[in-house]
Amino acid sequence: QAKSDHRHSLQLFSAEMNRRAQERASLERALQQALSDRSLMLHYQPQVLSSSPGTLHGVEALARWNHPQWGMVPPSQFIPVAEDAGLIHELTLWLLDEACRQLAAWRAAGHDVPCVAVNLSGRSFHRPEFAQEISDALQRHGLRASDVLLEITESVMMDARPVTLQNIEALHHQGFKLSLDDFGTGYSSLSYLHRLPISELKLDMAFVQDLTTSATARALTVSVLSIAHSLGMVVVAEGVETIGQQQWLQTHGCPVMQGYLFGKPLPPDEIEAWLCAQAPRPYR
Ligand code: C2E
Ligand code: MG
Ligand code: MG
Ligand code: MG
Repeated sequence: QAKSDHRHSLQLFSAEMNRRAQERASLERALQQALSDRSLMLHYQPQVLSSSPGTLHGVEALARWNHPQWGMVPPSQFIPVAEDAGLIHELTLWLLDEACRQLAAWRAAGHDVPCVAVNLSGRSFHRPEFAQEISDALQRHGLRASDVLLEITESVMMDARPVTLQNIEALHHQGFKLSLDDFGTGYSSLSYLHRLPISELKLDMAFVQDLTTSATARALTVSVLSIAHSLGMVVVAEGVETIGQQQWLQTHGCPVMQGYLFGKPLPPDEIEAWLCAQAPRPYR
């Protein structure tokens, strides 16, 4: 009896595995298709100055995939597939090019967008030509290194491969700024912060969302702000949703905030509308 139960659950298990593998394979094929017909999009989320929440520090470009049958597929689902399938690099270069094109177009239309932040995957840093590919994308659109902020994760910072370090050095040398995304959720060592040219820390939203309820989250946030301040780094608080969080962060000297309270990730035309809505109105 026990043996056949076991066999039965093994069969269920392998049926489930099989189903998942098939799901993954069709996701991968669809993503490949979306890449080749350029049907992915970017939305942009405002990052605002704490001292003046109508003023942009920049916008973060976030990948969006609206599949004809499945609807919106979240990046938390398709980015890992792109990474495993070896598609992430092509995706990254295309999104980077698109973000640069958009920034140049906004500026040409007279919108004051100081910079665009782009999320990079650790895998791309294993390509010796990556730093060059990034600067090529900027040149195509007449932008400078300071116009783009490169978001990396703690895993990139901790990656000891020579090729990764060479890319980081080359980017730094070319004047690019690096931002450390989801800070506080990984396993990085603080000593790396001053060994690598990191100019911005993005405090993960897990901390921000606990600020009003957890003394530990407050204590950790105070230390992050203090470390960043003494190392000359900007802190961007992610996932700010309430006025309570905003006020706490502002009181404790966090210079930049990003979150639904100020604006969700929006398609480019709605960013323009957002910018116009923030602009000072002359006849009030
Ligand atoms: P991330 O880079 O940390 O981006 C911030 C995420 O938080 C975004 O989710 C954004 O929509 C969400 N968010 C912003 N403000 C709030 C808020 O106030 N409340 C809540 N609950 N969420 C907020 P999204 O767009 O789903 O992206 C998830 C992750 O997928 C990103 O996290 C990033 O790691 C990855 N990702 C997105 N686009 C790209 C891309 O083009 N390339 C790469 N490599 N990764 C990307
Ligand atoms: Mg990010
Ligand atoms: Mg983040
Ligand atoms: Mg993230």
